[in-house]
Amino acid sequence: MGVLFLAGIACLILGLAAPASAHITVLLYHRFDEDRYPTTTTSSAQFEQQLSYLKLNGYTVMSMDQLAESLGGRRSIPEKGVVITIDDGFISEYDRAVPLLKKYGCPFTLFVFTRGVGAEGYVTWQQLRELESRGATVGCHTDTHPRLINMAVKDMARETVGSKQILEKNLGHPVHYFAYPFGQYDERVRLVAKKAGFRLMMSSDPGSVGPGTEVDRIPRQAIVGAEMSMKDFIRKLETPPLAVTRRTPPCGTLPSSTIHEVSVTIKEPGLYDPSQFSMFLSEKGRLDARFDRMNGVLSFKGPVHVTRKTNRIIVSARRKSDGLFALDAYLIVLPGTWEGMKYTMRRDGRW
Ligand SMILES: [Zn+2]
Repeated sequence: MGVLFLAGIACLILGLAAPASAHITVLLYHRFDEDRYPTTTTSSAQFEQQLSYLKLNGYTVMSMDQLAESLGGRRSIPEKGVVITIDDGFISEYDRAVPLLKKYGCPFTLFVFTRGVGAEGYVTWQQLRELESRGATVGCHTDTHPRLINMAVKDMARETVGSKQILEKNLGHPVHYFAYPFGQYDERVRLVAKKAGFRLMMSSDPGSVGPGTEVDRIPRQAIVGAEMSMKDFIRKLETPPLAVTRRTPPCGTLPSSTIHEVSVTIKEPGLYDPSQFSMFLSEKGRLDARFDRMNGVLSFKGPVHVTRKTNRIIVSARRKSDGLFALDAYLIVLPGTWEGMKYTMRRDGRW
């Protein structure tokens, strides 16, 4: 206590910022050096600059197994943790990104959809086995890369369990990790993925991983597009998770397209500057939300009408200790009907 107090005083005197609380940033990449796809490609020059930055600035690049251990409490969350994921299995990922990852000694995970493996423009089974023998992880990204939220449960099962079995047969070992195609999930998709036996499921929600992160919707920071600058990259790396204890509407399927209130309860609200909370709904932009410092609730009173199949609610708060903006993001989905659907699920997640 005394030592901590003195250390705190020393920090104040020396003007040192308090160390940012530990978090892990899961980076999401797609294509490399494919200028025909300006919004999803990364140049190998940029990629090398990013890997070099991680190395020179004390980041711990972790494997997917290590991320699972951290979330399971068997390993501490490093001060500056990073996990590298690459989706889809395009051949440019193998040709351009893999040599750089090897050069910098970074573990990484490739999420492939099984129908693509061996097709023109994609990695082959032989290449995947070779990557694994050199320490990479191969994860499941379904069979045909569909929008799972639009599917009947029986088809979803084929895309998850079925694809997992194909991967396991061809790689010769269990596959534990899954990435939702298009980053889309709802409560049915999450349950099917859980039943398939995956340990961690990746979303594309922006943000980072902390002790409270739900294992079946791990946020990932997309590092794609020709416009991505080093400044953006560093800002994404430094974004801490914002711990939230309650969300209205909850994550997943909405009861209707009209939302009467959007609100979140912030855990430890005193950590944040009360005048620096923001709330966004992707279809509407910034919402005029009010923060109640007595109960830590940030709320926006609607009604607001949504028309997009999926929307993301994003909440940000500026941390007093270091000025960084912490982030929480989640998906809400319009209700739908599913052809051939045999099952209905209650709000509590039971069939
Ligand atoms: Zn994908």
